[in-house]
Amino acid sequence: MLIARDIHKSYGNLHVLKGVDLEISTSEIVSIVGSSGAGKSTLLHILGTLDKPDQGTLSMNGKDLIAMKGEGLAQFRNQQIGFIFQFHNLLPEFTALENIQIPSFIQGKNPQQIEKKAGELAEILGISHRLDHKPSTLSGGEQQRVAVARALINSPEVVFADEPSGNLDTSNARALHELFFTLRKELGHSFVIVTHNEELAAMADRKVEMRDGNILS
Ligand code: ADP
Ligand code: ADP
Repeated sequence: MLIARDIHKSYGNLHVLKGVDLEISTSEIVSIVGSSGAGKSTLLHILGTLDKPDQGTLSMNGKDLIAMKGEGLAQFRNQQIGFIFQFHNLLPEFTALENIQIPSFIQGKNPQQIEKKAGELAEILGISHRLDHKPSTLSGGEQQRVAVARALINSPEVVFADEPSGNLDTSNARALHELFFTLRKELGHSFVIVTHNEELAAMADRKVEMRDGNILS
């Protein structure tokens, strides 16, 4: 589904990615592990079209993602790709429900459809009773689940997560990890997850280890 070939990226003299090849299948959950500075976040940003490689190819279902730019790329990303970060980046002045719906409003989708989809996600994520609350009144675990719902509201093919449980305690982290598997089963998304959490890394269908700009396994 997503195919990256011979991806190179440098920052000045620093060669961060040195010819990375990676394929992500539909509904696959892949974990990316490796020490700090190995290039994990850089790779995730490139796979998620937030950044361009210096060299290499990237395609999703046969579509060349590197050739895309501007408004077309922004539209594609908002529709087909979800992001979850360590810090949820929810907008504080909006309710949980509004935060979840924002990417769909940007897409110009039908409000009734958006409402229905948000309700469905909230149900799976166990936050239905918290939707009218502002982020500051939600627990850390709840805030991250709102961020997960926001990442999934447009039914993206693939969701990229960078240390999604890095800011959560053990039990909230475990609950979040289990939710990724539930979401995959119910909705069919692929997840690509950069994590230092050994338990999560081992749970994935496939664990990819990065070292010094290359994939080891
Ligand atoms: P990881 O996620 O595995 O910790 P990163 O992809 O964040 O690794 O970073 C890999 C290397 O690239 C690090 O040495 C980092 O300092 C450097 N780097 C990352 N982003 C930038 C940037 N925007 N400008 C300059 N150097 C960067
Ligand atoms: P977490 O470990 O996810 O941060 P907490 O122990 O902080 O969870 O929160 C437990 C419960 O308390 C949550 O379900 C949430 O509903 C409620 N809660 C947490 N923080 C606040 C807050 N600032 N205002 C209102 N309710 C809160």
